[in-house]
Amino acid sequence: MNYDRILIRFGELSTKGRNRKAFIYKLRRNIKRVLRDFEQIKIEVNRERMFILLNGENGFEIVELLKSVFGIQSFSPAIKTDKEIENMKDAALDLFKKIYQEGNTFKITTKRSDKRYFLDTNGVNQTFGAHLLKNIPGLKVDVKNPDINLQIEIRDEAVYFSCENILGAGGLPVGSGGKGMLMLSGGIDSPVAGFLSMKRGVEIEAVHFYSPPFTSERSKQKVIDLTAKLANISGAVKLHIVPFTDIQQLIQKQIPENYSMTTTRRLMLQITDEIRRKNEGLAIITGESLGQVASQTLESMYAINDVTSTPILRPLITMDKSEIIDISRIIDTFDISNRPYEDCCTVFVPSSPKTKPKKEKVQHFESYIDFEPLITKAVENTEVIVITPQSSQQDPLSELF
Ligand code: ATP
Ligand code: MG
Repeated sequence: MNYDRILIRFGELSTKGRNRKAFIYKLRRNIKRVLRDFEQIKIEVNRERMFILLNGENGFEIVELLKSVFGIQSFSPAIKTDKEIENMKDAALDLFKKIYQEGNTFKITTKRSDKRYFLDTNGVNQTFGAHLLKNIPGLKVDVKNPDINLQIEIRDEAVYFSCENILGAGGLPVGSGGKGMLMLSGGIDSPVAGFLSMKRGVEIEAVHFYSPPFTSERSKQKVIDLTAKLANISGAVKLHIVPFTDIQQLIQKQIPENYSMTTTRRLMLQITDEIRRKNEGLAIITGESLGQVASQTLESMYAINDVTSTPILRPLITMDKSEIIDISRIIDTFDISNRPYEDCCTVFVPSSPKTKPKKEKVQHFESYIDFEPLITKAVENTEVIVITPQSSQQDPLSELF
């Protein structure tokens, strides 16, 4: 007998009480999206578990895809039987023989949530252990470190057998935790920051600042490609592309050089916050990591953060570059980020910006300039593109936008 379904355990979800229904709904939707090319599968849900009925689709490919879905604690390819003991024994032996290799040891782990079942946990272990030992010559038990752990779940509705427990991505289903605006440059860090926010359930929209003609079309394409990688994980992502040239030129003219970077960041943050407000986001996400560059010292963050009281999530704040790079390779953004490009900041920003800018000073410099009309214009002229997951022709989520 082949595996006919995949049993999915929610993990952290189980503790979320009232929100449970919404969480399960989001998880189901996300799984459906990731498995959209497998037309025959069906998804069944009950309070404790989710099942993907394979209906002949390729289980190996599905297992690989499920590893990237947030909100899954672990999952197991499984088979289902009724509670007739002979049917159960046949199924167990059949499955076991498929996996067993000469010399393998085994144990049985039983979970029995059907408390009325006539055998208790020990009884099930003994019955099925004996059945396997009788039918497979040379088979040995090893309860500490078995090669095969046959798991039997006796639930109210049916019995499930499986031999593997595959670790899921953990976290919470994307979309179950509100929306944040990801400030997305073409660098290595910000896509990773977006990914880690999604891990905790946050849905993202991306905001990118560009300065034509100083930054080129291929810089823009880079950001579109990075967003597409994130969309593969979360579903369609709205990308806001903000024209920033006028503001940067004004800054260059009016703000002392060693403070121009601080003001640039403050304006980016203000504009992102305005786009957030219009799109009903609840937070801003950046790829900042403490001490990495001049704009990422605590003093800088203090002076920049001053322009908004919106929560700013900085998932990378304590990470070293090498740790960030490791994640960027996993989510397949590293090579895209590494393509050469012109960043709007590096084009204008001086080679030695102040590492310890003073908030009062930057406020003073900015007080001579009226940025408001330019901010309004930048927001008005922002281009919005909905980026859908790469491999799919049509994405059901895009209808929501
Ligand atoms: P990254 O690798 O994400 O570019 P970085 O190490 O180069 O980060 P900075 O250039 O100081 O650091 O940028 C810090 C953060 O500011 C970025 O992670 C990103 O969130 C935001 N940011 C920088 N440039 C842009 C941009 N052109 N558009 C949108 N956000 C930006
Ligand atoms: Mg950068």
